Amino acid sequence: MNDASVPPLIDCARVLHYALVDETVRYTPKGKIFVNDEELGAVPRLAIVRNLVDDDILLFHCDEAWTCLGVSGKGGIEDVMADANARYDGLAGKWHVAPYSDMDFARALLDECRDERCSFCGRFHFEIDALMVEGDRAMICGDCIDRFHASIQGGDGG
Ligand SMILES: [Zn+2]
Repeated sequence: MNDASVPPLIDCARVLHYALVDETVRYTPKGKIFVNDEELGAVPRLAIVRNLVDDDILLFHCDEAWTCLGVSGKGGIEDVMADANARYDGLAGKWHVAPYSDMDFARALLDECRDERCSFCGRFHFEIDALMVEGDRAMICGDCIDRFHASIQGGDGG
């Protein structure tokens, strides 16, 4: 079973592999995942993603619309996939490579994660160590705040 509806990005993390949990897959809880103190059970969609902030490989537990409900995983792609296969009996062999090129991905990033960019220097939050502050119509990164602060002080002659 394939499903082209998988997005290139989920929460601005790049989808590398994805799997659909169909009726042939049996959920075998192994190491519970809690979201806001509530246990997350079986989900219909799983995605292995690369988190662009720190390059971590993670397993996103998603609903049918690929909304991330919970996150687990540690290690490389194979480790994360093995962890998912251990939780879902029959899942091995159902993994697909996300059908997106680097260009598709870059385009989606610009499109969907525009709000994650500094409105002044244009960098994405994962390119910046400094804090981002969000306003109604703009985001500003800590580097730009420092720069503006310095220029204002310079204007006062101090
Ligand atoms: Zn900036």
